[in-house]
Amino acid sequence: MKRGNLLTRAIYPGSFDPVTLGHLDIIERSSRVVDELIIGVLINNKKNPTFTMEERLEMIREATKELKNVKALSFEGLTVDFARQNDANLIIRGLRAVTDFESEMQIAQTNHSIMSQIDTMFFTTSLEYAFLSSTIVKEVAFYGGDISGFVPPNVEKMLKSKYAGAHN
Ligand code: ADP
Repeated sequence: MKRGNLLTRAIYPGSFDPVTLGHLDIIERSSRVVDELIIGVLINNKKNPTFTMEERLEMIREATKELKNVKALSFEGLTVDFARQNDANLIIRGLRAVTDFESEMQIAQTNHSIMSQIDTMFFTTSLEYAFLSSTIVKEVAFYGGDISGFVPPNVEKMLKSKYAGAHN
């Protein structure tokens, strides 16, 4: 939404290992209420990702190519620093269930107290994706289950080749 000449540029941070239809639902809906949305893919040295940064970025870019005000970048360190570097004043997060609420609240309040210009906006998940996580999708893919209802076709292809012959 335009405020005078000011742009609302938001970031949507996460691991996206890989991006799911739950993430894409949040991306589509939030991209409609901001001028620009930057998906921030976290380089987290504490987590051992299944997909490389390049793969994660490429999967997001392919799945969001119709959304002209959305782009994906990698980042390391604090989310607020990534926001500042990109002149963004809004963080988007998705809430699946009350179980997400407590930690998300803590993160949002920490970010706001580190950098008071930053606010967090939560989108509640569409019900059909409330149970969905990247971890669950990988689990189903590992055992050869049908993941077509959970991820876009390009991600389904990547997961299938990643886990081809993994479980016999
Ligand atoms: P993280 O590792 O930071 O949890 P994720 O990539 O798993 O990162 O998630 C990024 C954001 O997307 C978080 O705000 C998370 O709550 C949200 N999210 C993940 N899955 C879903 C879903 N199925 N529906 C809505 N939001 C989701």
